[in-house]
Amino acid sequence: MKKYWNESRECATLHEMRALQSFRLSQTVRHVYQNVPYYKAKMDELGVTPDDIKGVDDLSKLPFMYKQDLRDTYPYGLFAKPLDEVVRIHASSGTTGKQIVVGYTRKDLEIWDECAARALTAAGGDHTDFMHVSYGYGLFTGGLGVHGGAEKIGMTVIPVSTGNTQRQINIIKDFGSTLICCTPSYAMYIAETMQEMGIKKEDIKLKAGLFGAEPWTQEMREKLEDMLGLKAYDIYGLTEIIGPGVSFECEEQTGMHICEDHFIPEIIDPDTGEVLPEGEQGELVFSCITKEAFPLLRYRTRDIAVLSRKQCSCGRTLIKMLKPRGRTDDMLIIRGVNVFPSQIEAVLLSMGNSDPFYQIIVDRVNNTDTLEIKVELSDNMFSDIIRSVEDIENNIKSAIESTLGISAKITLVEPKTLTRFEGKAARVTDKRKLLD
Ligand code: ADP
Ligand code: ZN
Repeated sequence: MKKYWNESRECATLHEMRALQSFRLSQTVRHVYQNVPYYKAKMDELGVTPDDIKGVDDLSKLPFMYKQDLRDTYPYGLFAKPLDEVVRIHASSGTTGKQIVVGYTRKDLEIWDECAARALTAAGGDHTDFMHVSYGYGLFTGGLGVHGGAEKIGMTVIPVSTGNTQRQINIIKDFGSTLICCTPSYAMYIAETMQEMGIKKEDIKLKAGLFGAEPWTQEMREKLEDMLGLKAYDIYGLTEIIGPGVSFECEEQTGMHICEDHFIPEIIDPDTGEVLPEGEQGELVFSCITKEAFPLLRYRTRDIAVLSRKQCSCGRTLIKMLKPRGRTDDMLIIRGVNVFPSQIEAVLLSMGNSDPFYQIIVDRVNNTDTLEIKVELSDNMFSDIIRSVEDIENNIKSAIESTLGISAKITLVEPKTLTRFEGKAARVTDKRKLLD
């Protein structure tokens, strides 16, 4: 079994990597400057020319790109190649506003396949595996993204897409799927449905899952590993940069290696735009240095993360990003306290007896923010000490208060009454946004 998909890149020395990045960056800047009038205007405004960008050290001279730039140039205004060379279009799932459109040349698709192949190899996959893809296919990058990587490796791909969960489980069982790719929320739904169908983890052959497209917690990882009998790996990506495979976990599972020979990461202070040193938390920014059709430079992802060059036991030298806890736009400010929904999930699951089925409702009553968390009741929430529903509610309430420093109203609801998600979960309702 191959340990790395592309050892010379994944295990390059820092010196080699920086030389490669510098060369590719200067070339890409020239390409974009010459072919994207919108970007040329941005650079001209700052008085920067391609000659000023000789290497990675000059990266911070370039202007930032924002989601708004993609919206302003919708649909094709940022394409750096003629449309007849574009062989595929994708669009973001539109979690946060109007959708944005990206394009790929044949070479861009090869780069994407390469990145996804690295991720699948790092999760222990090889050509003998049966790859069950239950990410959505279509304009969303999830399905076709990992599909391409799996085919490149020579796996047997099962392109199920989302939906019809019972059928998915029969396929996993009958076709002998060994790897699965979907959102962690959908994996949880599959695990729950499997239990309902009376199918045990011993009845299926899944050995690893690559779960991504949304933030998830360590606690969720443990649940999924236990319920599905597999090792759960994180995989990260975004449409604007390429799709799933921008970064991926290895067996050490202490962060995701970034394919930095294709995408240079930076961490910046989201308020000032200042580049922060390695190890500090801030907004993740990516520059694409090999893509042809849609090479965004210094794109502000709004994802909050930390970068680390700490030596990894897997042998890869690719820089790692710690699990993003969410986007700046997902962060809730409740009575002045910053809370990521993933922190609430961590508290709920760390109590050991609840399942990750919850809904967060934020509102404003009499000028004060309110937080309500609906949690599904399950039998194992009761114990010798905790006997009533009220006990359970109080228990969760005090855990939230002591960990996050905010009070919340906890409402327990009947089992299986909250919505299940096949793609990205939407667990937060912020009614204040409707008031504004
Ligand atoms: P949309 O922007 O419409 O949600 P995308 O599929 O492009 O469409 O979403 C990319 C975003 O999904 C990332 O910017 C990040 O916020 C989130 N994401 C993707 N993978 C992960 C992951 N493994 N962990 C946390 N967040 C992730
Ligand atoms: Zn590693």
